[in-house]
Amino acid sequence: MDPTEFRRYGYEVIDWIADYLADAGSYPVLPDMQPGDLADKLPPSAPDQPESMDAILDDFRKLIVPALTHWNHPHFHAYFSNSSTGPGILAEALCAAVNVNGMLWKSAPAATELEQVTLGWLRQWLGLPESWFGIIYDTASISSLHAVAAAREMADPEIRRRGGTAGLVLYTSGHAHSSIEKAAITLGIGQDNVRKIAVDAQFRMNVPGLRSAVEADIAAGLKPFCVVPTVGTTSTSSIDPVAAVAQIAETHGMWMHVDAAYGGSAAVVPEYREIFFDGVNRAHSLVVNPHKWLFTPMDISVFYTREPEILRRAFSLVAEYLKTAEDTRAVNYMDYGVQLGRRFRSLKLWFVMRYYGHQKIAGMLRDHIEWAQNLAALIRSHPQFEVVAPTPFSLICFRYKGSDQQNRELLEEINATGRAFLSHTVLNGQFVLRLAIGNIATTWPDLRQTWELIQQLMIQFTSSHDRT
Ligand code: PLP
Repeated sequence: MDPTEFRRYGYEVIDWIADYLADAGSYPVLPDMQPGDLADKLPPSAPDQPESMDAILDDFRKLIVPALTHWNHPHFHAYFSNSSTGPGILAEALCAAVNVNGMLWKSAPAATELEQVTLGWLRQWLGLPESWFGIIYDTASISSLHAVAAAREMADPEIRRRGGTAGLVLYTSGHAHSSIEKAAITLGIGQDNVRKIAVDAQFRMNVPGLRSAVEADIAAGLKPFCVVPTVGTTSTSSIDPVAAVAQIAETHGMWMHVDAAYGGSAAVVPEYREIFFDGVNRAHSLVVNPHKWLFTPMDISVFYTREPEILRRAFSLVAEYLKTAEDTRAVNYMDYGVQLGRRFRSLKLWFVMRYYGHQKIAGMLRDHIEWAQNLAALIRSHPQFEVVAPTPFSLICFRYKGSDQQNRELLEEINATGRAFLSHTVLNGQFVLRLAIGNIATTWPDLRQTWELIQQLMIQFTSSHDRT
């Protein structure tokens, strides 16, 4: 593509993005389509001859956009709602343009040093110890995989050579994200050696339960090696008692990895930091996903560890063609993980952190948390709804005071309007609606509208059920 053509279509694409972001609320949040609808409209094989950018962009608008679930919609409240933002998008374009591979310092000095500097800034915003080492992976699942691998290395340094699992046992709560169990599967620890400790009435890991499980395993000749508490669980956003878990980890020489993929961002707000991060400084590692609740586009997951040498020992394997001169300031990030090639992901975080600054980002997070409290209070005051879990962050778990089937149908009706998108979970055996706030475009009036919609649908729905 020559510079003239690139400039022409570049302007066109930027215009489209600017309009789209300004108007994301005008699209149906969920597309009106069935599985396979888009695939059926696309040719079964790639073109032999060049196609024009006009034709490609036209298909993007006519075929791809109508098949999108609009995560940018201000009424997107499913899963953990997140945000793409102007500075992040521009940085992504520049990242693709310079196209460096940050495997070695030498292969990408700017990417390597910016990753160190930006993660140093974020470490300060989160109030973490200065000495902690940071690295960017793509997702929290991969960050946690590296944590469990480092834990395994600490427990049994011979394991990378010898293989096997040596009776290692991992502990987490019954509400931990599935990525922790997947890490155990991937690393050969095995599902049978993952103890999912029961939770208390507020969905937090039960500490006496953890202690007894660890002691029982030691008595049985097994080796507890890793414990993973969560700050902001996926179902309810509950916060495990990290300080008490740390105590047990320290007594038994276990690696403690904190999964704060979603909740960790809230530690950017100074007055919440101590509440949310109590005990986190005692962890061996921590994951926080800026692509969840720090206004940075997919994908970027930040991993911190106070034991970078153990992480490096677990993974370092340098082929001759990649050997470079040793220099204490030249980090080769490829030594700290599975992957060799690495995108320049720090660029978008650097843009976002600089563009908004600490106060503005903390202010937006503070708003989301406050709106969640206000909305939870409105829901609680409604005679036909109940809030069924604490709301420490910006996720509300609630239900219509009826059967599971009625709640399932209510959720389907909300989502079928295209005006809001919520997801669900199951708590204490009951079907529960989840409403997550995390999108930069969402306002308090948006949330009021969604709450009105839910109430209207509930009235229509109960009166139609009464008639039948
Ligand atoms: N940990 C928690 C607490 C999560 O809620 C999620 C996803 O929502 C993950 C980990 C996995 O995140 P990722 O999609 O970045 O792998």
